[in-house]
Parts: sequence; structure tokens; C-alpha cells
Amino acid sequence: MIPYSRQHIDQKDIDAVLEVLKSDYLTQGPKTPLFEESLCRQFLCKHAVAVNNATSALHLACLALEVSKGDIVWTSTITFVASANCARYCGAEIDLVDIDNSSYNMSISSLEEKLRIAKLKNKLPKVVIPVHLAGNPCNMESIFKLSKEYGFKIIEDASHACGSEYNNKKIGSCEYSDITVFSFHPVKMITTAEGGVCLTNNAKIANKIENLRSHGIIRSNYTNPDENHGPWYYEQTSLGFNYRLNDILASLGNSQLSKLDEFVKKRNQLANYYNKKFEKIDFITTQKINSNSISSYHLFIIKIHHSHHDSRLRLFEKLRSEGYFVNIHYIPIYLHPYYSKIFKKNQYPNSEDYYSGCISLPLYPGLKTENIDHVIEVILEDKGFQAIF
Ligand SMILES: *Cc1c(COP(=O)(O)O)cnc(C)c1O
Repeated sequence: MIPYSRQHIDQKDIDAVLEVLKSDYLTQGPKTPLFEESLCRQFLCKHAVAVNNATSALHLACLALEVSKGDIVWTSTITFVASANCARYCGAEIDLVDIDNSSYNMSISSLEEKLRIAKLKNKLPKVVIPVHLAGNPCNMESIFKLSKEYGFKIIEDASHACGSEYNNKKIGSCEYSDITVFSFHPVKMITTAEGGVCLTNNAKIANKIENLRSHGIIRSNYTNPDENHGPWYYEQTSLGFNYRLNDILASLGNSQLSKLDEFVKKRNQLANYYNKKFEKIDFITTQKINSNSISSYHLFIIKIHHSHHDSRLRLFEKLRSEGYFVNIHYIPIYLHPYYSKIFKKNQYPNSEDYYSGCISLPLYPGLKTENIDHVIEVILEDKGFQAIF
């Protein structure tokens, strides 16, 4: 089976992991801080706090921005559930912004309109979480401008966008956000098996996230300096968690990070190969990447024209039966039973159209162009599509 995405592990990665297994520390040793330093260097941000997955990173990011009961957080309709769940963990309400028809990211015009109405109703969001879908950077300049006008904070869910660039800067520089989150799940750009990180340029936010990552415990700068009972002393100052990333995984992360540029290059080459083929097929559109951006191409998403939406299921099943484990990214947040009660149907026309027509095709560094040729052949053979030629 050819998956829609997968990890790329070489001997250097394996050696890095073995080295830690033979060392004194399997967790809380030198490798996690080393990984954090490398992340800061690579993405040109001041602070990196590595955690056990991106879901935890999003949770801690919300807590660091003091999201709590009574607050409202907005994200995109088309994303993985974790982008919305992080606000719910903090007791906040979630609301959704429709996507743009060509970038598949949060629509700036919908966001603007929704903010205007929310202001009148006194229901402005405390935090907005833009998601760089498939690695395609959102229009961050516009979102940043709106954040100043309407007074909200920004968490970039860049789970897909490790290695993407926007205005000649890497996503992760946090130029237009308070916090950026990456995921290191095996299907994402680089992997630690399970892992994630919060990047920020704000020392206070970084300290808070670091504290919450490990039980809310501090080992210096005590609340009351006279309370120091001896060399064993530490204090719990908040209700934290055990969201740490261990040294085995961090060393894999470090080794993977050195290959990120190569992975992005390879994925872009393969995506261009797909794009050239699809240019000639007018019932399918591909994701539009702006000229000021480079996508990591975590996913290669096609959208079938709405006049052919009834062919999507057939095509999906055909591709799977030919050995291509294609997938749909994503079921809109508002259709999940947990969320469906709070959202009116048909509020999000672009998301409806997208969800009825999208398929994620295989794309990862080790994929062969022969496989791409075959995928295209399977698509073109489909009877429903032939009818329009
Ligand atoms: C994968 C993903 C997450 C969660 O990542 P984990 O590391 O698996 O917790 C969050 N948001 C988006 C958009 C994702 O794709």
C-alpha cells in the first residue's frame, strides 16, 4: 500500500536513537534542550518548548494565552479536530471561520466579516488559530493586522507547515503570531514518532509553557525565598501536566531536523510533477500557493469540480483498490457529533464544496514519479470523468 504520507528514516536517525538508549538519560537529559536550541536556530525564533505531541502544544499554547471559561477561540472549519479541542480543554467556546476556495485556508474576507459582526454582538475571540493547511501558509499579514484592530492573540497551528516559508521567512519565526505549533507525527514533515513544539519570541509565554509541561513545578525563583527547605527543594506553582518530550525522541528529532530542507525540496519536486499533470485536467483543481510563499507540501490535495462530486467516492475507492491509501483531509469540524450541536448547517458554503470534492493523494520524499503517473492514469480512466472530454 502506498500511503498519502509517511516518515523517511535513515541510518543516521537510527544511530541517533541508539546513542541515547546506551546513555544515562532516556528522558530529561541533554537531548531535548539540544533539540530546542536547534529548532530556535532553524526557525529564527527566541524560544522553543518541545512537548509529547502537537495536541499538548496547542493545549499549553491556549493556557499560556490565558484562554479559559467564558472566552471564545476561532479556528478554520477544515482542520484536524485538535485545532479546536485545545480551546475546549480550557473550557472556552469554539467558533469556526469558512475557508477560501483556492488556498483552502481560513478565508480572510470571512474572518473580517465575522469579526465585524462579533464586535457588534460583543463576542470577539480572545485567540484565533489559523491552520496552514497541507503546509500552505495562511495570509498572516492580514490576520496580524486584524488582530491589532480587533484585539485577539494568534496561535499558528503549523502542524503541517514545518519547513514552509512566508515572505522569505520560515513559518515558526512567529513574526505574525504569539505562538507557533509544529507536530512531529510520522505523517508530518519531520518526525519524533510522537512529538510537538511551541515556538515563541515572548519569554513570559515560553516560561509559562515550560512550567505547565512538567507538572507546574519550578526549581528556582521560588514564590517565597524563605521557603527553601534545602537542596532537594522544588515547588508546584500551577496545575501542570506531564507533557514532556523524552530524550530518545528528541535525538530522533534532531537528526530529522537536519534533513528538513531536503524533504521540503523533494516534496516540492513531486508536487510540481503532479501540478503539471493536473494543469491539463479541467475537472480537477489543486491547492493555490501564493507567490510570496513556499509550501512544505505535507499533503497533496486535489479538489474535484462540483459538477463531478458524485465521482469522488468511486475514485477514492478505485485508488484504494489500486494500492494507494488516499485520504480526506478533513471532515469539517462542525460535522463531528461532538461539535455538530452548536453549529448551524449550511453556514460554510466553501467548506461544503471542499469537503465534497477533496482527496489527498500520496506525497512523501520516497515516492516515485511512476506512482504519480499511475495515480493520474487511474483518475483519467474513471468513467464519470471521461464523459466530459
Ligand atoms: C496532526 C495535527 C495536529 C495534532 O498533532 P499531534 O502531534 O498528533 O498531536 C494538530 N493540528 C493539525 C492541523 C494536525 O494536522
